[in-house]
Amino acid sequence: MPIHAGQLYWPTTMNEANSIQNYITDKTYDAVIIGGGMSGALSALSLVDAGMTVAVIEKEEFAYGSTAANTGLLQYSNDIMLHELIEQIGEEKAVAFYRVCYDALKDLQEVAEQLPIDPDFITRPSLYYASDEKDLLKIQKEYKALSKHDLPCDYWDRHALLEKTGIDKPGALWTFGDAEVNPFKFVRGILQLIQSQGADLHDGLEVDDVKEEEGILHVLTTSGSIKARNVIFTTGYMKPPVGKLTGDIIKRSYVAVSKSIEQHAWYENALIWETKRPYLYMRTAVDGRVIIGGLDEETDQMDISQEKINEKANELISEASQLIPRLKLELEMSYCAIFGESKDELPFIGRHPEKSNLYYLLGFGGNGTVYSMLGSKLLAELIQGKEPANSEIVGLDRSVPGKREAVIR
Ligand SMILES: Cc1cc2nc3c(=O)[nH]c(=O)nc-3n(C[C@H](O)[C@H](O)[C@H](O)COP(=O)(O)OP(=O)(O)OC[C@H]3O[C@@H](n4cnc5c(N)ncnc54)[C@H](O)[C@@H]3O)c2cc1C
Repeated sequence: MPIHAGQLYWPTTMNEANSIQNYITDKTYDAVIIGGGMSGALSALSLVDAGMTVAVIEKEEFAYGSTAANTGLLQYSNDIMLHELIEQIGEEKAVAFYRVCYDALKDLQEVAEQLPIDPDFITRPSLYYASDEKDLLKIQKEYKALSKHDLPCDYWDRHALLEKTGIDKPGALWTFGDAEVNPFKFVRGILQLIQSQGADLHDGLEVDDVKEEEGILHVLTTSGSIKARNVIFTTGYMKPPVGKLTGDIIKRSYVAVSKSIEQHAWYENALIWETKRPYLYMRTAVDGRVIIGGLDEETDQMDISQEKINEKANELISEASQLIPRLKLELEMSYCAIFGESKDELPFIGRHPEKSNLYYLLGFGGNGTVYSMLGSKLLAELIQGKEPANSEIVGLDRSVPGKREAVIR
């Protein structure tokens, strides 16, 4: 099933492809990673950094899954606000999770700085505005929760917000330490880097199953079997070939990419989003374009015409223009894509509860890249026999609201 439709933007910003090794060897890898997007690339990098031998297998082309549709907003705040997460899992765990997300931003920056391709990683502030008067209280509560735990933020009332940004809304949270990136270049850069450090990359190879024989895992692909001591599934929003996922919600989301605009119309090139659900979100790009996302729908169907996608994208353009009237936006490209969330608004990261040496990094939720980063470090520690802090928050033996069983069986 296709996971996006329309005209993707990021692949137009880069011409070269990764050179791929497409022959299977008899090696037994320390880890085979199934899925060549953001999660697969970052997992491979964390394992290569830990001195392990790694192969990454991709059934289509590297970085062309959800990674190519990702709008590249990197934020320490999550779809579930800190004060809401405190209610859900308690203060200690919620704060620990927010801190790990905050640290993941620094790790992403460190990765970006090592890459052979410039991934347009730029530190940016974020503006999280109250969509209406009713939601202002949420923003104020969140400001208190974040400040109490030294997570960098500021609160702006309507007057300050309007004066600085031209946005007329009841109030907003201003957070620091976030960033924008070109996710396509970022992943392609990581793949180039790890390949130069000895990792093997295979594309056009679909994994059907993984079998264990005398302690070795055999990864069964359309063109033969690959041996591994550990396997990580980084299959994004697609069904992994082993294990059944519960507690996920699949939707369809739209993205509009504008023609380039005068950047001074946009206050500090901030990443902008709102409290309403589904939310409107937007950012600028290095070539002066504005990227706007939202209008999520409760369907996973992708048989949709470019005409219908353009209609939705023009709606996004018009919502953004109403929000910041001084922007003069014109649509240039548009697409829609499958988007995965989880019922408890946390990603699925960890070891299979019953099958040994099988791991999953499924970064469901709007903050997927941050989850890919923190998950890749967590899994590298697990595979090395360590016990990473806070792994139970995102672990796979947890159950989600409305379900009794573990999130992966
Ligand atoms: C419209 C949109 C906007 C988004 N915006 C943001 C954003 O601003 N910030 C953010 O952090 N996140 C965002 N996300 C989420 C982000 O895209 C995902 O979190 C991220 O791309 C997930 O990367 P991944 O590697 O897990 O998945 P993918 O990039 O989908 O990679 C999975 C790969 O696995 C391969 N695969 C699947 N099954 C198999 C198999 N059996 N054998 C071999 N290969 C297989 C697929 O072909 C695919 O390439 C957005 C998502 C969408 C759809």
